[in-house]
Amino acid sequence: MLKNNEISEILITEEEIKNKITELGKKISKDYKGKNLILVGILRGAVIFMADLARTISIPMVFDFIAISSYGAETKSSGVVRILKDLDVNIKGKDVLIVEDIVDTGLTLDYLLRMLKSRKPASIKVCTFLTKTARRKVNVKVDYSGFDIPNKFVVGYGLDYAGKYRNVPYVFTLNSKFIQE
Ligand code: 5GP
Repeated sequence: MLKNNEISEILITEEEIKNKITELGKKISKDYKGKNLILVGILRGAVIFMADLARTISIPMVFDFIAISSYGAETKSSGVVRILKDLDVNIKGKDVLIVEDIVDTGLTLDYLLRMLKSRKPASIKVCTFLTKTARRKVNVKVDYSGFDIPNKFVVGYGLDYAGKYRNVPYVFTLNSKFIQE
């Protein structure tokens, strides 16, 4: 699938991902028992994570997606978010769990949380596949997180570089030869 020299380092293997998601799914199922759970996935990065996570959740739930785009350079977040596709479901009175691929500076999530809170859900929490805690610029609360990773640009398992690598089933860093500055 990949050229031999495309990978610099594999950070998280398929097996590690599988085990972690099973753990997260169990916890979420327990915490949301008897509630009106709605998973809100952020397109497009969270799609793979959301699909696997949803299948480990054993309580009734629904899901929806929101597509946002941040202005600014490709690999940097500006925190200014534009909604490309809004939710179809009304979240008022529902227990919303935002499903993100990665929380880096936290700016995107901070913006999104404010926006969704104004729609008066019963509760709103965050589940992210990856987090780079050391890079945070704003203090957003991450309620469930898969892996805390170092300050490296990663791809795979839903995360892309120029639209590529989302389908790779593990998380890795790219050989710098393949990154255009
Ligand atoms: P934040 O606003 O938290 O700085 O950025 C969040 C968004 O930036 C993520 O949803 C993702 O699209 C992008 N991002 C941040 N770090 C990485 C990374 O290491 N790899 C990839 N592919 N995207 C990242």
